[in-house]
Amino acid sequence: MKWDGHTHSKFCYHGHPAEQQEYLERAIEMGFERYSVTEHPPLPDKLVDNPQLMLELAMPERELPDYFAYMKEMKARYEGRLDVAIGLEMDYLYRQEDFSDRIVDKWAAQMEDAVVSVHYLPSRGGAMRCIDYTADDFKDAFLGYYGSIDKVVEEYFNHVEMEIEWAAQLPMRKRIGHVNLIRKFRKELPEMDQAFIRRRLEGLLPKLKAAGIGVDVNVAGLRAATCEEVYVPEWFMNSCRERGIELVYGSDSHRPDQVGANWDWFAERIGM
Ligand SMILES: [Zn+2]
Ligand SMILES: [Zn+2]
Repeated sequence: MKWDGHTHSKFCYHGHPAEQQEYLERAIEMGFERYSVTEHPPLPDKLVDNPQLMLELAMPERELPDYFAYMKEMKARYEGRLDVAIGLEMDYLYRQEDFSDRIVDKWAAQMEDAVVSVHYLPSRGGAMRCIDYTADDFKDAFLGYYGSIDKVVEEYFNHVEMEIEWAAQLPMRKRIGHVNLIRKFRKELPEMDQAFIRRRLEGLLPKLKAAGIGVDVNVAGLRAATCEEVYVPEWFMNSCRERGIELVYGSDSHRPDQVGANWDWFAERIGM
């Protein structure tokens, strides 16, 4: 099935204010059959110690009902033309898992899809910092604090494992978001140990299989000049296929013109 499984909307404040029809018409034009809207849900107050950045990271909690109502209307409007699946890109929130649990408990009945992502790691004083904001911010937050890029990568994969444990209990269709997001700024960071990353990724495979969690084959890294990689290595895609772990293409669109981006890359690799 031609499916874009990871997209954002006007409810994202680091995205684009376009109405949903612009995204959905573009998806139909490109021949998509299913389109998952997976917006960033609200975050705990002061998750990161930067009020301006907090405003950009996610919608305020009071908007979540509007998001579901709006997408429900879109789903009905496009019925028969495009299967609009409503979901969220849930954050794995280390030591604040109960915040995400509360959102899921409240909205699970409305959610067809959950992409589950690690976007934050602890830094100085235990405060959370973004791993995907800017290269300079990454260096400032993590390189000195963890001591080396290898230690940052190790901690990232520790969090991905906790994320899988957390996501295992979700009742809806679920996928792990951009599993190699830690490589977003790779060209501006000290070189990462690829053999170590491979070992850690291999270690995830049985956990994903056991938990019934799929993989978001997220192509947004191809658009980042500091990365120019898909956030899922090809060998990992092959291992997932061998094990029957679902692979779902994800444009991670934050603007209508990003819908379906690099679909051909994905289609070629899975023989579609
Ligand atoms: Zn986003
Ligand atoms: Zn994400």
